Amino acid sequence: MKTIIKNGKIYINKDQFAEALYIEDGIIKQIGNFEDLDQTNIDEIIDIKGKTMLPGLNDSHLHLVSLGEFILSCDLTTATSINEVIEKGKTYLDTHSPHILIGRGWNQDFFVPTDNRMITKYDLDLISTEIPIIFSRVCGHVSVGNSKAIEMIGLNDTSYVDGGEILLGSDGKPNGIFTENAVYALYSIIPEKSSEILESDIERGMEYAISVGLTSVQSCDIMGTNSKMVFSTLHRMYREGKLKLRYGHQFNYQNIGDFREYLLTEHLTGIYDERFLSKGSLKLFKDGSLGARTALMSSPYADDPTTHGVAALSDDQLFEICNLATANNISIITHAIGDAAVESVIKAYESTFSDEINPLRHGIVHCQITTSDQIDRISKLRLSVMAQPIFLDYDMNIVKSRVGPELASTSYAFKSLLDSGAPLNLSTDAPVENCNPFPNIYSAVTRQAIKTPSGKCFLENEKLTVEEAIDAYTSGSAYNEFKEHFKGRLLPGYVADLIVLDQDIFTIEPAKIKDIKVTMTMIDGKIVYESK
Ligand SMILES: [Zn+2]
Repeated sequence: MKTIIKNGKIYINKDQFAEALYIEDGIIKQIGNFEDLDQTNIDEIIDIKGKTMLPGLNDSHLHLVSLGEFILSCDLTTATSINEVIEKGKTYLDTHSPHILIGRGWNQDFFVPTDNRMITKYDLDLISTEIPIIFSRVCGHVSVGNSKAIEMIGLNDTSYVDGGEILLGSDGKPNGIFTENAVYALYSIIPEKSSEILESDIERGMEYAISVGLTSVQSCDIMGTNSKMVFSTLHRMYREGKLKLRYGHQFNYQNIGDFREYLLTEHLTGIYDERFLSKGSLKLFKDGSLGARTALMSSPYADDPTTHGVAALSDDQLFEICNLATANNISIITHAIGDAAVESVIKAYESTFSDEINPLRHGIVHCQITTSDQIDRISKLRLSVMAQPIFLDYDMNIVKSRVGPELASTSYAFKSLLDSGAPLNLSTDAPVENCNPFPNIYSAVTRQAIKTPSGKCFLENEKLTVEEAIDAYTSGSAYNEFKEHFKGRLLPGYVADLIVLDQDIFTIEPAKIKDIKVTMTMIDGKIVYESK
C-alpha cells in the first residue's frame, strides 16, 4: 500500500515543516514537497488542505481498562457538593440498576465551602444501604464505601493495612474512607470481569483514545488480583488483530512475592512484537496524592501538621523490588508526588546503577513536589520524568497551602527538568484526567486554569513551548519505551502514526490549544479515525 499525504503543514522539528509525505506499507519513506515525492503506483493521495499534522501522540502513563470502565460508570467529576454526589448516585442507580454502584471523580476541594470534607459511608448510605457502593476520589488514592460494601468485605481487624488506612469514625467503626493500599480491600467486592467484558472496556478506551489523537499508550492495567485475566485478554486481542493502537504494558506489583510470580509466568509467556504490544515497565507506588494529603512529604503538611503523607512502600521495600526488577532487565516507573517520595525513588534507582547511568530508563511518574537539589540529581541521573501538566489545573490552587510557598516555588518544575537534561514525557494518568492531550498541552504551555485562561499562571518560568510539549508527548514518550528510533517523529524510516488537527497549534493563541480537535488519526499507515 502506497499513500501520499499532501498539502499539509507537517511538523518535522522546531521551525521545520514539510508539505507532503510518502508512506509505504505503514512506514514513512519520504518527506518534502509533493512534486519531489515518488509518484509511481500510488494507491491513494490524501489532501489535508493546509492543515497541521503532528506525529501521533503517546500517553506515557494511563489506565486503559479503567478509562473504558469510567466512560460507563457514575461520573462524579462535576459534583460541587456532597448532595450533588448523592443525587448523581441516585440517578445512576435509577437509570442503570447495577448490582454494585461504582463512581469516580469526586473532589472535596471542588465542593462548596460548607461541604469541605471527604464523603463518608453515611453520605453513601443515603443513596442505598441495599446495593454496595464504591465512590473513588478523582486521584484514585481514596475510595469510599457505603455500609453494605463494608459489610461485604467482612473486616476483622480494621486498625492497619500495610501502606494504607481504613479510617474510623467516632464510634470506632470504619467511616467508609479507605486510602492507598487499603482501597484494594474495598475493590475486593467487585466481581471479577469476564474476558468479554474486559475486551469491551479496552475497546471503548481505545476508541476514545484514537479519537483524541493518541496512537500509542503506555497503560497500567495489570494491577493486583485482576492481572491474569487482563493479561490474557490483551494478548488474545493482540493475536486477533483487535488492538487499535500501540500498547505498552505497565504492570503494578507492590508486593515482591507477586512480582516474582509474574516474572516466572506472564512476563515470559506473553507474545510481544515490540511494535504493537510491548512488555514495558514495572509500575510502583511510593506515595499517594497531594489533594488527599497522602503524598509523602519530608515535613508535615503546612495545612495539616498532623500528617506528612503515606508511604505505600517503605524505603527498604522499594530498594529491594527495584533491584530485583533491574536484575531482570525490567525498567521501573514509580509514582512519586511528595518530596520525600521523590527522594526515596532517586536513591532506590541510583542503587541499581553500576557502570552506566540509568541504562533501563527508570522513570518517576508525576514528580511534582521537588527541591532544586532533587531537580539537579534527577537530571544528572537522567531519570525519565513522566509529567501530567493538566494536574496543575487543580493543584495550582492547593500546592502553596499544602507544602508552603518555598517548596511550591520549585515544584511542577517541568521546564527546569527539561532544560537541565532530564528526559521528559507527558501523560494524563487517565481516567484520573481525561486522556485528551490538548488540554494537557495547554496546561504545559500556559500553566493557567482550563476555565480561566486569563487567570493566574503557576510559575511562569516553568512553561514549556508548544514544540517542547509536542516533542515530550511524541519522541519523549517513545524514549521511555526505547522506541524513539522508530516512532514519535515524522521522518523517513519511522512508522506512519500521525494526526491532523482542526487548528494550527503553532500559531493559534495558547488559550485555544485546549479546544483543538483531531480530524484524522492514522496508525501504521491506516486511517483509524476521522471526524464527521
Ligand atoms: Zn496511574
